[in-house]
Amino acid sequence: IVPIRPGLVREGAPTEAVLLGFVDLTPQRRVEQMRVDFIANASHELRTPLASLSGFIETLQGPARNDANARERFLKIMGEQARRMSRLIDDLLSLSRIELNAHLRPEAEVDLVSVISHVRDALGPLGRERGVEISFDHPAPPVNVRGDRDELIRVFENLVENALKYGGSGGRIEIGIAREGADAVVAVRDYGPGIAPEHVPRLTERFYRVDTAHSREQGGTGLGLAIVKHIVARHRGRLGIESVPGAGSTFSVRLASAAADDKKK
Ligand code: ADP
Repeated sequence: IVPIRPGLVREGAPTEAVLLGFVDLTPQRRVEQMRVDFIANASHELRTPLASLSGFIETLQGPARNDANARERFLKIMGEQARRMSRLIDDLLSLSRIELNAHLRPEAEVDLVSVISHVRDALGPLGRERGVEISFDHPAPPVNVRGDRDELIRVFENLVENALKYGGSGGRIEIGIAREGADAVVAVRDYGPGIAPEHVPRLTERFYRVDTAHSREQGGTGLGLAIVKHIVARHRGRLGIESVPGAGSTFSVRLASAAADDKKK
């Protein structure tokens, strides 16, 4: 209850009023809910391989104690589960580091042709293993943008690896760089099964997968595209996803060229 200034009140009118203020808590609640969901998801993802490891340890201490064959097999699976936990922790740490620095734009001059050549060399063996050819079409180098070379390598490694993991059945992956006005656009295209439209807007959510079992089988953590989205946003770029079920998917990243960026300053 607050007093009303005497000059503002007519004779005989009340001299006190109740002031009510409203604060919209919806955005805070939403952020809080997202944080709670994220921790629940991360714990669940870590608990799954941990439960499997505990199960195998018990079996090796008990029923399979003297079975050399089973021991060999179980240790191999346990190694895979441990690697999965470590990948998940690496991805969680990367994501929080990128989010922490979200407001800092990386400034080094980076040549996209060299970034993609690096990614293609790194993933070529996996492609050959799966019978997939990775082609790369680009204008004369350099195609310079302002950014962080390692983070940009991470973006395109994720996209090409996904094309191999989920679109590899198409037999080829095409990577292209095009100059569009003041921008450089990198597109990663596969000819796999594609993605149904209802999933497309949710792919960059943490832990969102179209087929969780298939993702796990492929060694996925469900965090790859969330990391891609955050790195691209930090570079003030745009991530595009186009997919036609049955025909394949194209993931593209649009970045301002270094020259155009410098002119704006
Ligand atoms: P994951 O670790 O599961 O690969 P991502 O965040 O990288 O996580 O991708 C999320 C989901 O998006 C994948 O689980 C998969 O279902 C789908 N996806 C990503 N790239 C492709 C693609 N090129 N073709 C079909 N589905 C894809």
